[in-house]
Amino acid sequence: MTKKWVYVSRTAKEDLKKTLGHAPEMDEMKIILGGKGAGLAEMTGLGLPVPPAFTITTEACVEYMKTGEFPEGMMDQVMEALKDIEEQTGKKFGDPENPLLVSVRSGARQSMPGMMDTVLNLGLNDETRAKLAELTGNEWFSYDAYRRFITMFSDIVMDYDREHFEEKLEELKKKEGIRLDTDVSLEGMKGLVDEYKKMYKEHFEGEDFPTDPIKQLELSIKAVFDSWNGARAYAYREHEGIPHDWGTAVNVQTMVFGNMGDQSGTGVAFSRSPATGGHEYLYGEFLMNAQGEDVVAGIRTPRRITVQGSREWAESTGVSEEKRKVEYPSMEESMPEMYEQFLEIINTLETHYRDMQDVEFTIENGKLWMLQTRTGKRTAASTVTIAVNLAKEGLIDKEEAIMRVKPEQIDLLLRPSFDPKAEKTLIVKGLNASPGAGVGIAVFDAERAKEAADAGKDVILVRPETAPDDVPGMLASKGVLTQKGGATSHAAVVARGSNLPCVAGCEGISVDVNRKQFTIDDKVIKEGDVISVDGFTGAVYEGSVPLIEAEYEKQTDLITLLEWADEIRTLGVRTNADYPVDARRAVGFGAEGIGLQRTEHMFFAEEARDAVVRMILAKTDEERQTALEEMLPIQEQDFEGVFEAMDGKPVIMRLIDPPMHEFLPSREELIEEVAKLRCESPDSPELAEKEKMLDVVNGLWETNPMMGLRGCRAGIMYKGLTEMQTRAYFQAACRCTKRGVKVIPEVMIPLVGHVNELKMEREKLEAVAKQVMEEEGIEVEYMFGTMIEVPRAALTAGEIAKHAQFFSFGTNDLTQMTFGYSRDDAEGKFLLKYVEGFETGKVDDEGNPILEPILEANPFQSLDQAGVGCLVEMCVEDGKAANPDLEIGICGEHGGDPASIDFFHRVGLDYVSCSPFRVPVARLAAAQAKIRND
Ligand code: PEP
Ligand code: MG
Repeated sequence: MTKKWVYVSRTAKEDLKKTLGHAPEMDEMKIILGGKGAGLAEMTGLGLPVPPAFTITTEACVEYMKTGEFPEGMMDQVMEALKDIEEQTGKKFGDPENPLLVSVRSGARQSMPGMMDTVLNLGLNDETRAKLAELTGNEWFSYDAYRRFITMFSDIVMDYDREHFEEKLEELKKKEGIRLDTDVSLEGMKGLVDEYKKMYKEHFEGEDFPTDPIKQLELSIKAVFDSWNGARAYAYREHEGIPHDWGTAVNVQTMVFGNMGDQSGTGVAFSRSPATGGHEYLYGEFLMNAQGEDVVAGIRTPRRITVQGSREWAESTGVSEEKRKVEYPSMEESMPEMYEQFLEIINTLETHYRDMQDVEFTIENGKLWMLQTRTGKRTAASTVTIAVNLAKEGLIDKEEAIMRVKPEQIDLLLRPSFDPKAEKTLIVKGLNASPGAGVGIAVFDAERAKEAADAGKDVILVRPETAPDDVPGMLASKGVLTQKGGATSHAAVVARGSNLPCVAGCEGISVDVNRKQFTIDDKVIKEGDVISVDGFTGAVYEGSVPLIEAEYEKQTDLITLLEWADEIRTLGVRTNADYPVDARRAVGFGAEGIGLQRTEHMFFAEEARDAVVRMILAKTDEERQTALEEMLPIQEQDFEGVFEAMDGKPVIMRLIDPPMHEFLPSREELIEEVAKLRCESPDSPELAEKEKMLDVVNGLWETNPMMGLRGCRAGIMYKGLTEMQTRAYFQAACRCTKRGVKVIPEVMIPLVGHVNELKMEREKLEAVAKQVMEEEGIEVEYMFGTMIEVPRAALTAGEIAKHAQFFSFGTNDLTQMTFGYSRDDAEGKFLLKYVEGFETGKVDDEGNPILEPILEANPFQSLDQAGVGCLVEMCVEDGKAANPDLEIGICGEHGGDPASIDFFHRVGLDYVSCSPFRVPVARLAAAQAKIRND
């Protein structure tokens, strides 16, 4: 038996059950029928009004991509399925007496809005057009449908650009002195169809426009399959990480017409706000007497579904209430019964899919038809709000809500917005189509925008409206501004899906792409001028508006979601913070302690630096001791501030770690200065001083300082250093305790490679801690531990664990030393290329070179689980075997990376520690790791 390539929507679920041997899961349906095809099958199954349809599977597309031919039996099955929908509609495809017209649409497993092709009104030719006019009593409509079909078919199937046809339509409108397509005269439409046919014949050197509906269908299916490998679909998949071998399904659906007159229309809607996730009312727009493409193209101003939405739109665009009521009444006001039915359908769909839906609908002569439903694309903020609300409404549980938000989306929510207090010059306001704040130079062409962005410039792409070809340029930009189009226009949908700030439908500006400028009254903004677009409010400003941090405390849904995450996760989340201000911020983000305080950072301020330099330059113990005494109060003050900020949460103070030369002037500069002074003023005291400094720097100079006198090695070599830091820390701990601040001090030794280093440092440290407590007359409990960041430490973990109460993996150094890559050199010289890949000599279908990477990811960003991870795992096992009470954390950069967090959960660490802004990300990722793995 030949494979089943085609499924009729009304029996698709039953038929799939036979093919698969079990009732199909939602995801399985999507894999085979694509998202749209699965949606049609589901909606039909729910008893919703859906025009009869069938779906050609993604598997057929995959076969087609291999051979360039339809798989065997596919077209026979298409003919069978066509018969089925003919039966359902009582019409016949190509029958001049009772013609069935269909649409052919792409539909991949995952939605790729506007990326692939659609052909509407298939089945039209001179005879069927005449019958359509007779049956509908609307000749104008029949010609309008025909001219649209010729345009679309020529453009998408035959690669004869639609612009040529649109130009003629524009000429005609000018001649007739009208603005809207719907105002073109009947004679005008007739003439246009004749002209289109002539143009086609001329372009294809004598070949007539195909009149055989089956031929039309076959060619259109082919074109949709081919569009999977079109440049814009390819670019979109690259950006979204969608595999190139999935293929697209093709949906053939009975046409219903929104352009049959005043009682017809078409629109799109979201069951909740895709921008904010709000559920106060339905978010949608529609146009009467129009086809779907008219809404998406954004040429006419659409009306809203609800009164509330309509009023908000009118307010934001300055339309008066009187005018709104007459010219743009909502569906709720003008078609209340249909509105009720629509509301019910939307609720049925949301309950069924348990997620926000994005639907397309058509009204044909007063009857509502649902054409498509899919899980709606949304911004990061609305992803969180919708997940939380669905859980509160009982449609999903908390765990599912947690899994529905990607940790990276949380990162986006903590991004900055424009400073409301900053002075700004508002130039115009449009629709707040996708939230976020973007600043950059205005560029009026997507390709140029991409080039400028690749050259390191921040760009705002400004277009009259956007089309799928603009997507690569949009994605490279910091924001998008369009003159036309509503909240569901192409620009808005793509921007929201990519978390790109977007102001759309900015009717107040006039974009002139040819002159590379836009104007508002007398003001002209030219390419290269800096503008700021505010996707939160729809405002566009001249120049660069300063940004401020996101207000986490006000993001109540995010806070709720993270509280749920905290209930679930077992992995602790601490932060890497050096100063009281960072510590306070991290606590606000939910940090449960400090996993790493890099004490060397406290000395980067100028006065502190001087003391460190003197400590390094010291020739005698006394000199060094004097310098250390100057350093002590600086440290103590910061320690107290951090203890106060963390009140009752553990604070890991790490003894000083950087290569010592980092505190001294640059060797190259000193050599230059000394050479110059020797010529210009050989006897000057300045020269003597510089020469002395150069001597010291030369003495400390290391070929690879990252493996030189660092970490505990410095503490061991510089007498008194460890003691000073310990004293400052314990004095701060004792004094805070006396003031009623609860402290949990933990001291950590960096860069240990041999147990003896640890033992030596511990002895010094314990003695000072004891002495300080005696002096202060108070006892504080503390823990003593070590970083594991040198491979030898990981390999001898059993031995080391006997002398430490905790381990903390320094995966930055551990990665560096395990790979043998010097991080700073590697990233600049070869690492990024290793990840990007090298040419193989092979090319893909589009002629792009296929690259083969050496590394899947940058190991300094995402932990190399096979190599460095193996050391971590071994170390945990040996360490815990030797010391069952050993507490183990990680404080390298990987502590904020979701994939690495999943690994750390699996190997049984107690906590991760990351920078303050990553703390919310880590909380969610830790909960997801628990749900995923346990
Ligand atoms: C590490 O090496 O992972 C670490 C946290 O220490 P630093 O980055 O300060 O070297
Ligand atoms: Mg380190």
